[in-house]
Amino acid sequence: MKKAIHYAKHSLLSDDVPIGCVIVKNDKIIGYGYNKKEALHSPLAHAEIMAINMASKNLSSYHLEDCDIYVTLEPCLMCVGAILNSRIKNLYFGARNKRFGAVISHQKIEKLITNHMISYEFGILERECASLITDFFSDLRKRSK
Ligand SMILES: [Zn+2]
Repeated sequence: MKKAIHYAKHSLLSDDVPIGCVIVKNDKIIGYGYNKKEALHSPLAHAEIMAINMASKNLSSYHLEDCDIYVTLEPCLMCVGAILNSRIKNLYFGARNKRFGAVISHQKIEKLITNHMISYEFGILERECASLITDFFSDLRKRSK
């Protein structure tokens, strides 16, 4: 999760909301990503999608079996869909996303119809992960005054 926090800070270079992600297989990072929606002008450029793309290329497979994903913020519905489609084994996230989280907050992952289910844990380095987001928006408010 520390690495995911590290990558989240890369988002700040393009004024993107800082969210970071890593994918691990056999204790090795095989993909990472950070939110680049503003930088790439793409609604798809979430940290998880970037990391899944990199990991899939590295494994030459869209099945990321026996891989774990670490993300600083609870994934949204699009990213939960991508995580399930990639067949990642375990999901770990730091802070909850009460507005858009599709694991436990806004939506419940168990209610999705899918042929693959992951196990998940949350609250890992929660304070650090949450303060990435709250600090970003409080800076934004200060700058817009
Ligand atoms: Zn997302």
